Amino acid sequence: MKIVSIVGARPEFVQVAVLSRVLRRRHTELLVHTGQHYDERMSERFFTDLGIPEPDVNLGVAAASPSAQTGEMLGGLADALRRARPDLVIVRGDTNSTLAGSLAAKQLLLPLAHVEGGMRSYDRTMPEEINRIVSDHIADIALVTDDAARRRLAGEGITTNVHVCGDVMYDVFLQVRVRARAQREPRLRALQQQPYDLLTVHRAENTDDPARLRAIMAAFTDAPRRIIFPVHPRTAARLAEFGIRLPAAVVALEPLGYLDIVALECAARTIFTDSGGVQREAYFAAVPCFTLREATEWTNTVEARWNRLVGSDTAAIRAALHAAPMRPAEHPPLFGEGDAAERIVAALESPATQRIIEEAATTRRARGR
Ligand code: UDP
Repeated sequence: MKIVSIVGARPEFVQVAVLSRVLRRRHTELLVHTGQHYDERMSERFFTDLGIPEPDVNLGVAAASPSAQTGEMLGGLADALRRARPDLVIVRGDTNSTLAGSLAAKQLLLPLAHVEGGMRSYDRTMPEEINRIVSDHIADIALVTDDAARRRLAGEGITTNVHVCGDVMYDVFLQVRVRARAQREPRLRALQQQPYDLLTVHRAENTDDPARLRAIMAAFTDAPRRIIFPVHPRTAARLAEFGIRLPAAVVALEPLGYLDIVALECAARTIFTDSGGVQREAYFAAVPCFTLREATEWTNTVEARWNRLVGSDTAAIRAALHAAPMRPAEHPPLFGEGDAAERIVAALESPATQRIIEEAATTRRARGR
């Protein structure tokens, strides 16, 4: 098969690391990078850190607003897909690149597979939730992490071509964990001599609202340990714009490469985050997580009691920071066995998917596309 995989944001790069390797054993894959995360520290570095293949096409979209960005991506992706003429398009997760990629594929009558389908926070004020819903409902093939996601899709009427595969991010985590521990640079190793908590914040709902961002940071004012805080470029810009000073205990770092963040996650006492990826990685590493959001799509980690929602409530975050962290006795395998990429490729090679590909090709031919 000829496949176009669309990437653009940090979590997509992480997954491509493993999925591309498995896909390329038997198929031709073209990697199309929208340029959504154009900051050098946040994209180039991932390609080298994780051995991700160079993108075949980089659209370099760098528009200021999310709407302008999505629009620009849609045009660029449609052109790239028209040129590539793939049998199948793969998108992943819930970013603007996911949304634009899904629309571009379906406007060109190309079969669309959505990796990490079926996730819901049930908070439609989150742009990611809208991206997930649209991609799930126009995709031809859903590749979901667990049975709960399959049931969620069934509840919305999506019952065919849904494959439970596990989480590719878990595959990646297992594959880099040992390497991550070994390669810590001296500065990070020094930071890890004392107990610390890890903090990441980058969601629009937290960073674009000065009151929320201030409330989160205020919770760390009298932190009993160091708070290691790799700062996303969006967050750095907002902190400066709103004149928010970081508390003394907070050690701000540039965005980290994947191996460095995994090393820090694994040795943290607790993790405070609003990231979907970091919530899961906290679970993979069996580190208690406090999620700086009102709702999460990774409800399985909350149900397992390794993750708790604290929103942007200063008192709740502060209480979490000062109390002994929860350590449930059980740590069930919520994200598969580390073979999600293999399962995804098997699903794409299945007779059901091949039928979808053939039917779409017939339709395109009939319509002169
Ligand atoms: N990440 C990273 N460096 C950092 C912060 C996060 O490599 O400084 C990784 C993180 O471990 C996770 C991925 O980036 O695998 C998640 O991306 P992000 O938090 O940007 O997006 P989300 O998962 O919320 O969509």
